[in-house]
Amino acid sequence: MNTNLEELRTKLDTVNKELLRLLNERAEVVQAIGEIKEKQGVPKFDPVRERKMLDELAELNPGPFRDASIKHIFKEIFKASLNLQEEEHKRQLLVSRKKQPENTVIDIKGTLIGGSAQVMIAGPCSVESYEQLRTVAAALKEAGIKIMRGGAFKPRTSPYDFQGLGVEGLKMLKEVADEFGLVTISEIVHPAHIELAEQYIDVIQIGARNMQNFELLKAAGEAKIPVLLKRGIAATLEEFVHAAEYIAVKGNSQLMLIERGIRTYEKWTRNTLDISAVPLLKQETHLPVLVDVSHSTGRKDILLPCAKAALAAGADGVMVEVHPDPQTALSDAAQQLDIPQFQQLWDGIRKSGLFTE
Ligand code: PEP
Ligand code: MN
Repeated sequence: MNTNLEELRTKLDTVNKELLRLLNERAEVVQAIGEIKEKQGVPKFDPVRERKMLDELAELNPGPFRDASIKHIFKEIFKASLNLQEEEHKRQLLVSRKKQPENTVIDIKGTLIGGSAQVMIAGPCSVESYEQLRTVAAALKEAGIKIMRGGAFKPRTSPYDFQGLGVEGLKMLKEVADEFGLVTISEIVHPAHIELAEQYIDVIQIGARNMQNFELLKAAGEAKIPVLLKRGIAATLEEFVHAAEYIAVKGNSQLMLIERGIRTYEKWTRNTLDISAVPLLKQETHLPVLVDVSHSTGRKDILLPCAKAALAAGADGVMVEVHPDPQTALSDAAQQLDIPQFQQLWDGIRKSGLFTE
């Protein structure tokens, strides 16, 4: 009896090994098909073909496995095969860490983003006037901060709200940045703005609302200056990474990502800061990853712990909105810090030991 069991077990081991060999032989065929589909740009998942294969297998099934069990087993094999093809697809992305293992480090007038040091990006939500911008720039300079943000083209929820100063705002950014030796970041909302951006600012920001504005992404991919891409309001990380790929594939490798919170049911914050996005994006891509604590929280009182969390999770920098007089701000008045509040936040971040300058 025992010898028989042993014999059967030996036989099972042989069958297992044969199955293993066949499964991997099948996987190689699947990979080859995946490559062809990738080149042709056709979807990897073909439900009609899958159904046909399952029906055929059930028809050929001699038992003792029931048809339903056979279908279940093969469906799992199909799922694993699709995953294999998709992993391969991800490996092929230009922004993928698998494609380029080393970090992308962006050098903007000598300020590095994505290297061993972190960066602080601060400035008003919108550029409102020369004086407003100059006041913030002076405070940043004083604090040793090198990168200033400020929106000139503002994508607002209501068409009746302040839409930004447009080109005039970009010109102010340039003038003030030149005076204080700062690097500037500002959002553009139309492909026609690329040339203006190249002329007046150092980094193009693509805002959350435009993360999947593919024509804008393509145009930014042809820009000669770096791009900071914000995560869409309800974008998955998969969508975020593919939006970045749109820019990279057009030739612009000076690309950075910024988590700015996603919309959830939570009302105590404006958006929900997805901290897990930081290590995941660092793991899956080689791009610098930043965190915008102002738009993600929509608050002023929890910025220090959120900034610390971002840095502890591996963020390459933090963005925060600062305004000389937030109460009178023409956009995002509720979340902008005044200058003393900003200095306090900055002190806290530096004292945390999480920020390497
Ligand atoms: C901004 O940074 O000015 C802005 C509008 O943010 P978001 O696109 O993340 O909403
Ligand atoms: Mn804002």
